[in-house]
Amino acid sequence: MATLKPDSNAQPPYKPAFFTRLSVLFAITAALLLTLSVFIWHTLDRLVAENEWVTHTYEVMERTEAVISRLRAMQADAIAYAATGDVARRGEFEDMAPLLDAELNALADLVRDNAVQARRMADFTASIRQEQSESLQLVQDRRKSGSRPSEMPDIGLAKIRGLSAGILAEENRLLNERNLDSARSALITRSIAAAALLVSLLALALAYWLVLRSHREELRARAGLNEANLRLNQSLADARDMSETMSKLATFGELLHGCQTLDEVREGIGKSLGGLLPQLGGRMALINPSQNLASIGAHWGRHGLLAESVFAPEDCWALRRGQAYPLAGTTPSFSCKHVQWPNPDCPGAGYLCVPLAAHNEMIGVLTFDGERAPTADERRIALAAAEQLSLALANLRLKETLRTQSIRDPLTGLFNRRYLEVSLERELQRSARRSQTLAVLMLDIDHFKRFNDSHGHEAGDALLAQFAEVLQRAARSEDIACRYGGEEFTVILLEADAATAQRRAETIRQATADMSVTYRQQQLPHVTVSIGLAVYPRDAQTPAELLRRADAALYLAKKAGRNRVATAEAEADA
Ligand code: GH3
Ligand code: MG
Ligand code: MG
Repeated sequence: MATLKPDSNAQPPYKPAFFTRLSVLFAITAALLLTLSVFIWHTLDRLVAENEWVTHTYEVMERTEAVISRLRAMQADAIAYAATGDVARRGEFEDMAPLLDAELNALADLVRDNAVQARRMADFTASIRQEQSESLQLVQDRRKSGSRPSEMPDIGLAKIRGLSAGILAEENRLLNERNLDSARSALITRSIAAAALLVSLLALALAYWLVLRSHREELRARAGLNEANLRLNQSLADARDMSETMSKLATFGELLHGCQTLDEVREGIGKSLGGLLPQLGGRMALINPSQNLASIGAHWGRHGLLAESVFAPEDCWALRRGQAYPLAGTTPSFSCKHVQWPNPDCPGAGYLCVPLAAHNEMIGVLTFDGERAPTADERRIALAAAEQLSLALANLRLKETLRTQSIRDPLTGLFNRRYLEVSLERELQRSARRSQTLAVLMLDIDHFKRFNDSHGHEAGDALLAQFAEVLQRAARSEDIACRYGGEEFTVILLEADAATAQRRAETIRQATADMSVTYRQQQLPHVTVSIGLAVYPRDAQTPAELLRRADAALYLAKKAGRNRVATAEAEADA
């Protein structure tokens, strides 16, 4: 069987809207992260710049201090030279001058970009130069005079200090301003970074949720597809089983219609129905032409439920209502009397009776039973089989009726008295021609009137039908069993001598005594039969004489106490 696989081309696992949403989310996240990176880059730039400004401020401070300290050193050298005339100190003073110039130039370079600072620097430089020229003057005066000056100048750096403090204060103010600026921009950057990160995370979380949801939907869809697949496979399997069953049913119908006799139907039906409904056992009961008795014609499978071999049609609800019973496998309040139900040994057991009908007349019933109630499919098959069987039986019955209407007894199915007389005449002639013996048994059920009175005429009929079966079983196919009238029967045993006939009569007598008949769930009492026996050519030569001698022997058996076999020979001796 071909198994269906999910078709990858049939339906995209993700919807286009899903991709659009996902792309938008990723675009938002990428844009935010890009902006964030630019901000961070920019902020880092600013921080580097701020740092340079701090370095710059410290450099200004350092250089200012360096200028002042060089100036002081030069002043100290000038004073020392003026006081002592130490040439070394004058040399040091002269050496220091270009260094001081260099420091001053460097400082001027540092503050050139700021107009205010540049002005201050100009004042500062002027003051330095002023002090420097005073010291130079001191040196030159000493050199010229060669003596210590009478008055030594003061080293007064207060003004210079004040100017340098101004430069440094301005530098500090600028530094603080820049620090404040960068703190503000750092705060803005932090806030923007935090917001951008938060939004990016949210967008990513949303994207993750979208993917997850879509994945779950896909899993659900796949599970649904698998389930649908399983259901489809199951229904394909069911359809295949059903088509197998239909072809079996068709074969069953064809075989049934090919049957020439009821016996062929009886033999074939068990195997066919057992094959069609292997879980169920079954029986076929056929109603006699008088429509007052149904007797089991065939059975198959295991029987969970005991059933009566002969029963009145009204004991079956299916026959009463003309439709299958029970319709469902529920516990019905009304069960058929011919079925022992419920079964105490198998509480789950169920059964199904399907009527066999033709031309608005009930002709029998199929009873199926099993350890459980028949399923809906089994019921459908049983109904279809019953329909086929009904048709076949109706056809056979029509043929049979046409053929046997004139020769068969409707209650027992045995030959009637007219047929007996005609065939006895023929068989005697044949026996005479072939010099063969022939025996006639005349049988009468003992105290049958009493049986009828105690159990009813219908029970009596059931017993007669069962007795007829005993006779049929005892007779060979070439023998002729007849219902002579009422509870009297005749059997013609072809080619039987006295001893054989005696033995066969004894067998029938014993089988009758052992016969057990259940009617309407009641065990009927055992009955006995008396049998008279006459043999051609020993006891009589003509049919009428032979029957008379057998009847006389029967009378003798009755007189002798019933339930026995008496011969015409014995009767003659009596
Ligand atoms: P015996 O042992 O002497 O034969 O006694 P018996 O009661 O069998 O004989 P009797 O001839 O007195 O009664 C025959 C009875 O058989 C009378 C009748 O009610 C019954 N009978 C005859 N034909 C039928 C029939 O077709 N169906 C039923 N149920 N009973 C029948
Ligand atoms: Mg009688
Ligand atoms: Mg009788």
